[in-house]
Amino acid sequence: MQDSQSSQQLSQAIAIASPLPRKSRQARVVWRNNVVTVGGDAPVRVQSMTNTDTVDAVETAIQVRQLAQAGSEMVRITVNTPEAAAAVPYIREQLDRMGEYVPLVGDFHYNGHRLLTDYPDCAQALSKYRINPGNVGKGDKKDKQFGQMIEIAAKYDKAVRIGVNWGSLDQEIMADLMDQNSRRERPWETRQVMYEALITSAISSAELARNIGLNPDNIILSCKVSGVQDLISVYRELARRCDYALHLGLTEAGMGTKGTVASTAALSVLLQEGIGDTIRVSLTPQPGEARTQEVVVASEILQALGLRVFVPSVTACPGCGRTTSTTFQELAKKIDDFLRGEMPVWRTQFPGVEAMKVAVMGCIVNGPGESKHADIGISLPGNGEAPAAPVFIDGEKALTLRGEHIAEEFQALVLEYVQRRYGLKA
Ligand code: SF4
Repeated sequence: MQDSQSSQQLSQAIAIASPLPRKSRQARVVWRNNVVTVGGDAPVRVQSMTNTDTVDAVETAIQVRQLAQAGSEMVRITVNTPEAAAAVPYIREQLDRMGEYVPLVGDFHYNGHRLLTDYPDCAQALSKYRINPGNVGKGDKKDKQFGQMIEIAAKYDKAVRIGVNWGSLDQEIMADLMDQNSRRERPWETRQVMYEALITSAISSAELARNIGLNPDNIILSCKVSGVQDLISVYRELARRCDYALHLGLTEAGMGTKGTVASTAALSVLLQEGIGDTIRVSLTPQPGEARTQEVVVASEILQALGLRVFVPSVTACPGCGRTTSTTFQELAKKIDDFLRGEMPVWRTQFPGVEAMKVAVMGCIVNGPGESKHADIGISLPGNGEAPAAPVFIDGEKALTLRGEHIAEEFQALVLEYVQRRYGLKA
C-alpha cells in the first residue's frame, strides 16, 4: 500500500505556486515619454504619496524624486488648496528639469472640482486624478461636482482613480443599504453592508464617469479599508464584479512592523489570486524614518511573490548560537545598503543586475551551500571555526578572505562581479 502510494506521488511533479494572471483593463498614466501602464499585461506597479506641504514646490519635488528613485512608478501629491494647485505646475517643472519624468497623481477631496477648473495648468501637469466619491459633495451637488472633475479628466485624457475609503464612505449609499438590510428576513452583518456600500460607491461612480465620457480604460478603482480580512473580502468581490484596473492598498496600515506585516499579509493574498494592478503601502513613518520606506516595502512584497524584480536580493541566515558575534549581521546590512544605494545608477548601467542574488551566511552549516546557490556569496566563520571566509562565485569557491577587512573586500568583489557580469550587456 505504502509502495503504491509513493510511486503514485513520484509520478506527478509537485505544482509550482505562482500568482494567478490578472484580468483587468489597461490604463495609461503618462508624462512626456514615460508611459506607465496599469492593469492588463502590465507588471503590478508601485506607487507612493508625499507627506510634504504641496505649496512648498521645491521640498515636494525633492521628495517626489526620492520616492521615484526608490522605485515608485507614480507619486501622489495632495492638492487641497488654491495655493497647492498653483504649486503643482512648478513641482512638475522642477522634476522635468531634473530629468525625472515620474507621473504625478493629484489627490482631491471636497474642492477638486473648483481647483481643477480654476487651475488648468495644474490639471494638465498632473497625469492622473484621484477622486474620492465620498468627498465630492452632498445631495444634488455630488454628481454635479464629480461630473465636473470627470469632464476635465476626459478633456485632457487623464487617468482617474475612483478611490473609495471606508473612513469617508458615501453616507447616503450606506444609509440606503442599511435600510434595505433592515428589511431582510436575515439581515447581513453591518460590515457586510459596508463591503457592499464600498463596492457600490466605486462601481456606480465608474459607470457615471463612463456616461459622462471618460474612457473606461482610463478608470482605476480602489476600495480601501484598514482590516486585513475586510480588504480581502472587498477586493475579491470588486474583482469579480468589474474589469477595471485595481489600485490595492491597506489604508492606515500603521507604523513599522505592524504596518508592514498587515500590508504584506493583505496584499499577498490578493496578489496571489491575480487581484491588484498597482499597490501602495500606507505606512506611518516612524520618527526619523525616510518616506521611501513605503516604496521599499511595496517593492519587497512584489519581489517576494515573484511578480517583479527591483533590487538584488541578499540571502542572510538569522544567526544562532553558532555565531554569537555581530560581524555577519553587520556585513549583511552593509551589503544590503550598498546594493540599494547603488541601484539608481546600476539600473541604467548594468541591465539585469536587479536579479542578482548575494548570500551572507553566518557559519559552515548552511553557509557554503547557500552561497553556492547565490551568484556571489560569503560564508563567515562561526564560533570555533578557522578565521576564514570562503567566497563563492557562480556556484564555485573562488577565494578565501581573512583578517580585519573582510567586509570591504567582499563589497569590492561584489562590485567587480556586477561590472564583469552585467557591464558587458550594457
Ligand atoms: S548558517 Fe550557521 S549561524 Fe546561520 S543560522 Fe545556520 S547554523 Fe546558525
